Amino acid sequence: MTTPLLTATIDLAAVAHNVGVLRESSGTDVMAVVKADGYGHGAEAVGRAALAAGATALGTAQLTEALDLRAAGVDAPLTAWLLTQTSDFAAGIAADVDLAVSSPRALAAVVDAARRTGRQATVTLKVDTGLGRNGIAADEWQATAIATAKAIADQSVRLRAVMCHLARGDEPDHPLNSEQAERLDRCVADLRRLSVAPEVVHIANSPAALTRRDLARDLVRPGIAVYGRTPVPDISDFGLIPAMTLTAQVVLVKRISAGDGVSYGHTWVADRDTTIAILPAGYADGVPRLLSNQLEVSVNGRRFRNVGRICMDQFVIDLGPDGGGVREGDTAVLFGTGAGGEPTALDWARMVGTIDYEIVSGIRGRRVRRYVGAGADHSGVADQRGSDADLRAGGTTG
Ligand SMILES: *Cc1c(COP(=O)(O)O)cnc(C)c1O
Repeated sequence: MTTPLLTATIDLAAVAHNVGVLRESSGTDVMAVVKADGYGHGAEAVGRAALAAGATALGTAQLTEALDLRAAGVDAPLTAWLLTQTSDFAAGIAADVDLAVSSPRALAAVVDAARRTGRQATVTLKVDTGLGRNGIAADEWQATAIATAKAIADQSVRLRAVMCHLARGDEPDHPLNSEQAERLDRCVADLRRLSVAPEVVHIANSPAALTRRDLARDLVRPGIAVYGRTPVPDISDFGLIPAMTLTAQVVLVKRISAGDGVSYGHTWVADRDTTIAILPAGYADGVPRLLSNQLEVSVNGRRFRNVGRICMDQFVIDLGPDGGGVREGDTAVLFGTGAGGEPTALDWARMVGTIDYEIVSGIRGRRVRRYVGAGADHSGVADQRGSDADLRAGGTTG
């Protein structure tokens, strides 16, 4: 088997460990959020690993993401929450996806689909308690609650949950967190007055699951922490283990002379005779062009800096006059856990002024995913997106 030029190695044992951390910190059940193809890690593989580690459900944004998981054979409870009245609710009901509605119009469409198909829909009410994004608006709450009670009475709907999403979960002590929880509790009380009650209530994203046990209710809904990244790096890493390591094969090593410019625009010119190496990763694969002349990689335990512009497919590192002992075919670590001295996705995020959520979910293009750790060779884990590029390695980490 040839070594891929660019590899995202996903440690499923780390995912399992992180789910354990989240169960422990929240003291409750975990719905692992696997939207955006598992934050770039592979929704199906991560989802299966999280479930095997004790997560009780998976969450996605779009309904199609949940339907893809069902089609792949994932039979755990699934919730999707970015829906509109034109979503394919009949398909969602047929696949037994919990449909989290954000308006009375979406609810009406779900009820209509349930009546048409003769199957009861599982519904969550997603309430905007202060996020100011999707979720049922305050002035539509009463109508939605009453319509829900009617739909439950005629058995077209089963009310799985009432949920909300925090606006400032990453500021654990901010009063808005408790205010949002109180507003959600009032919504649940409204439903009780209508003689209906959800099976579960959930609020907490990763930062709340890690820092606000009092907001846990019946279920927490972490995403980023499942992938081993702390949402509040200034507070703690909570013992989470980053699951993704991005590596590239050195494709070319060559000598250049003092005065030679490197890459488009010659933004870097060698001030001495030196040796450079070409790495096959670029902005089309999710390496931000803004990292040009800042990015560092680790090869054989030594750090080397990117010189010249990061291109669509490749970038250049300066190995120094002695060549740093780097050879064609060597592996360069672009980011990893940091345990071996390599940069982390958080380092990248800080350099470009974003969060590591954006870095890891943006790794794409020609990278091949390779799964290691417990469950990596699970026979039910098929290659994703019809790609024959995803590889499975045996359980190599404990
Ligand atoms: C993305 C998302 C989450 C997970 O957020 P993290 O900060 O990654 O833990 C939870 N709930 C909803 C509604 C989301 O959209």
